[in-house]
Amino acid sequence: MTRSYEYVCPACQNTVERGFHVPSIVRSCENDCGFDHYIRTDLLDKVESVPEADRPDEWEEMDNEKKVYVALREGVLSLPDLQ
Ligand SMILES: [Zn+2]
Repeated sequence: MTRSYEYVCPACQNTVERGFHVPSIVRSCENDCGFDHYIRTDLLDKVESVPEADRPDEWEEMDNEKKVYVALREGVLSLPDLQ
């Protein structure tokens, strides 16, 4: 049995499943929301667990890829999570 992983469009939450494990996949959203990256669901969950005190002021305006970098900096994510 092969495992599959779920990836989500950060803009509209549309999901796809793929048989490989990477932080994000380049994919034009089928809902036309202009996003060209889907991010692995469990990564996005972790990113949202960055404590509010550690979030930059512009957090709400940041795209999810930038949030991933913040999560790395704050130690919420580690590099092995991204592999
Ligand atoms: Zn979308």
